Amino acid sequence: MTNEIRPAADGKAVSGMGTARAWCVLAPNPSPMTLDGTNTWVIAEPGSSAVVVVDPGPADEEHLHRVLDAARAGDRHVAQIVLTHGHLDHSAGAARFAELSGAPVGALDPRLRLGTEGFGPGDVITAGGCELRVVATPGHTAASLSLVLTADGGLLTGDTVLGRGTTVIASDGSLGDYLRTLGELRSLADDAGLRVLLPGHGPLLSDPAGVLDYYIAHRQERLGQVRAALAAGARTPAEVVAIVYDDVDRSLWPAAEQSVRAQLDYLEGS
Ligand SMILES: [Zn+2]
Repeated sequence: MTNEIRPAADGKAVSGMGTARAWCVLAPNPSPMTLDGTNTWVIAEPGSSAVVVVDPGPADEEHLHRVLDAARAGDRHVAQIVLTHGHLDHSAGAARFAELSGAPVGALDPRLRLGTEGFGPGDVITAGGCELRVVATPGHTAASLSLVLTADGGLLTGDTVLGRGTTVIASDGSLGDYLRTLGELRSLADDAGLRVLLPGHGPLLSDPAGVLDYYIAHRQERLGQVRAALAAGARTPAEVVAIVYDDVDRSLWPAAEQSVRAQLDYLEGS
């Protein structure tokens, strides 16, 4: 077994980064929310005749053909497509990629599935010749999943953990779920001996436990700031954002407002 990790370039996601069993094809959709673009992952045991493709990405014909070329290198075929969650930057190209590759689309959310019953938490996907274990990681969205790539000590995190910055809680997500998920992934980092996080956006992260500790501390710090802003008289989500996200680029304030709503919901419920 090789322990190869091919890192990102200068802290930016690039096609070809990954591990012995994971290969990134970077989609051409960079933005403040998607960082360098969506990372589409091609997963296979070296020498396997079949691969698993995680998050085909946006409906960009050239990107989907690049993914297909990477998947089919060495006479392989795509046996399974997996969606980490339903946001369009990960899923909009899934139906077209299923058509191009002939593979079914699996996800936790039944509405995202195509040609398969899908799978549930704890299921193991072996279609690529290596073990991918499904972990339910609700929070960013209600039906987000992550995948443990056992042989490489890797965790494909989708948008639950990003390669740079932190994740927002989408309108169909929940901060309470997200905090539980981060705690579970932190335990998993030790229990499964994780060595690398393979995120849905941004570079690989080679210190899973440290990154998860930071995510948990960051969430608690933000919650403390939101509590303080409320105590200081902020009444609306926008007023809380102007105080708490003072240090964040204003182009991200609409997303921050969504995050603040999630935090206010959480504080109200606790
Ligand atoms: Zn995304």
